[in-house]
Amino acid sequence: MSSSVLERAALALSGARTVLIVTGAGVSAESGIPTFRGAGGLWEGFRAEELATPGAFADNPERVWRWYRWRRRICLQSEPNPAHLSIAEMEPAFDAFQVATQNVDGLHRQAGSRNIVELHGCIHRSRCTGCGEVRDLPDEIDADDAPLPACRRCGKMLRPHIVWFGETYQPGVLESAQAAAEAADFVLVAGTSASVWPPIAVALHGQRTGAYLVDVNPDTTSLSDRADAHLTGAAGAILPALWERARSLR
Ligand SMILES: [Zn+2]
Repeated sequence: MSSSVLERAALALSGARTVLIVTGAGVSAESGIPTFRGAGGLWEGFRAEELATPGAFADNPERVWRWYRWRRRICLQSEPNPAHLSIAEMEPAFDAFQVATQNVDGLHRQAGSRNIVELHGCIHRSRCTGCGEVRDLPDEIDADDAPLPACRRCGKMLRPHIVWFGETYQPGVLESAQAAAEAADFVLVAGTSASVWPPIAVALHGQRTGAYLVDVNPDTTSLSDRADAHLTGAAGAILPALWERARSLR
């Protein structure tokens, strides 16, 4: 990556009023949170694809909750990294600012971001399988022998508030990100593999409707080729540098 690419992206960010940031697993990985997929992703002999499905939950809700408890513990022990912190720092500097994240770990909120759309849900929340109420998980859930959690309103079983394989997004979530993309004059995508399509489609939609599109990624993906600028490197290194430069240009 030449410094002129960073300079052009910083110039675009400094002139922007409306910003959308889309983040993926790479940003969480820099905080030590594994993707829970692929090689080495086994838990008690199961792959994520065998646990994060409606069928797996119907067959054995105890097992699925146990897996989420373990994952939640990892998230609770993790800290936001410089990418999360830079994104949170940027927010008050713009007229409108949204983070649309594929990550479920809650680290953007912990870093101080406010306007967050959690595309794939949140590991710290539950949703009632009966009435649909979404709420924060109580701490009791973290005990190893915790019973299956039940809804305080209707008594039905609670499930993790996560979009599983084979499920569609929660109503309004993608629409909100789409609207932010349409309004944005600067869209930045960080740490996505570009294989999770809807968030990428949202980013490209932003570009089509006039936004300057930046991809922050150590690798070159199909998105990097289409972006106005591809900043090669880890989000935790690139984002602070980009924001520092953009701020100095404002
Ligand atoms: Zn309920």
